[in-house]
Amino acid sequence: MAFEGLADRLQNTIQKIKGKGKVTEEDVKAMTREIRLALLEADVNFKVVKDFIKRVKERAVGQEVMKSLTPGQQVIKVVKEELTELMGGEQSKIATANRPPTVIMMVGLQGAGKTTTTGKLANHLRKEHNRKPLLVAADVYRPAAINQLETIGKQLDIPVYSEGTEANPVDIAKQAIEEAKANHNDYVIIDTAGRLHVDEHLMDELQQIRDTVQPTETFLVVDSMTGQDAVNVAETFNNQLDLSGVVLTKLDGDTRGGAALSIKAVTDKPIKFAGMGEKMDALEPFHPERMASRILGMGDVLTLIEKAQSEVDEDQAKQLEQKMKDASFTLDDFLEQMGQVKKMGPLEDLISMIPGADKMKGLKNAQFDDKQITHVEAIIQSMTKYEREKPEIMNASRKKRIAKGSGRSVTEVNRLLKQFNDMKKMMKQMTNQKGKKGKGMKFP
Ligand code: GDP
Repeated sequence: MAFEGLADRLQNTIQKIKGKGKVTEEDVKAMTREIRLALLEADVNFKVVKDFIKRVKERAVGQEVMKSLTPGQQVIKVVKEELTELMGGEQSKIATANRPPTVIMMVGLQGAGKTTTTGKLANHLRKEHNRKPLLVAADVYRPAAINQLETIGKQLDIPVYSEGTEANPVDIAKQAIEEAKANHNDYVIIDTAGRLHVDEHLMDELQQIRDTVQPTETFLVVDSMTGQDAVNVAETFNNQLDLSGVVLTKLDGDTRGGAALSIKAVTDKPIKFAGMGEKMDALEPFHPERMASRILGMGDVLTLIEKAQSEVDEDQAKQLEQKMKDASFTLDDFLEQMGQVKKMGPLEDLISMIPGADKMKGLKNAQFDDKQITHVEAIIQSMTKYEREKPEIMNASRKKRIAKGSGRSVTEVNRLLKQFNDMKKMMKQMTNQKGKKGKGMKFP
């Protein structure tokens, strides 16, 4: 999970000061010492840590804390605000050119996730902004790179412009923009060549492409798991190409967070997106405040809601609400709901967005295994249609057959049926209450 190590340490540290009715200079010193260690251990740039601690210290022993009624809480607010500021403050949105197409140039070292991110970004623009992107294969040195982009394009059903490996990348980029104009593509995303290390030839080529196509955005794709190396790469690319933003990939596996916390401070370029997995929908706009909130264990309800909204079909949601009201919710509906949750991403990531989830008994060390959802699906799929609608008819022989069909145990079948019954009871209670008090919950 993203930032796990750092989050644990910071949360333990702020927990100690949280409830304090009086915060002394000693308390602040002790806290900042621990935060400093936690950040250094997270591989945050040394100078960035120094400045960060200085600002937190100044504010934490200042008037805003001492005069407040809840000094402990106030200190935490200061830490959160400074963390947010460190990652860029406000969210930096993707820019749009005055006259289409908007050209986005993707640059980065090999293996950082450039090609994958090019596809993810196109998918994001289409899904969330209703755009019509064109992808451009301008990495002519590796035939595999062109194939990879073409495969991604096919998978997403998004067009890819390519001229094979013989053409010149500058010409390809120029031609692609003409093609986009002709086909009314409003975004052009250029996947440029990468190298294992920064080299002069590559930088020359990228500069030529940039000078020719004058992109609205030049995004550097960096692997967050490489920590300070990612920051150094960002600094070099920024000096040569004057980036407009950074996409941090593999944040899903980055337990430390050093790159995320240092890049903005070192390069003064905002993180625009974060890659959260290998799948094409695993790209999130980067919100510094929400990220700070996640790191400090305060959850990220807004992202959770956005994910739900983009995956859940409104008509389906209405139908579901009605089914809950008249208690006609069946195991088939349950199966459908699970499918929707699955689309939102790995369970573990979703749970980390719930405020305080990491402090909840039982949740903290629970293993969120997405396989369990698959098991439940297998069990339900092994039932007949009638059984799914009327689980009360279930007897021992039916259960045995279902267990066998799904490759699970009878105990698991029983557990699922019990959970489903409990859920139905709960829905009944909630909808009854709604009737009585005139207000209630909205589903989902
Ligand atoms: P490129 O050489 O920079 O074009 O890198 P690729 O796009 O080929 O990606 C390299 C590897 O990183 C592939 O296996 C991707 O699936 C993986 N990858 C890319 N982005 C992410 C991410 O955000 N999370 C995870 N876990 N893997 C990613």
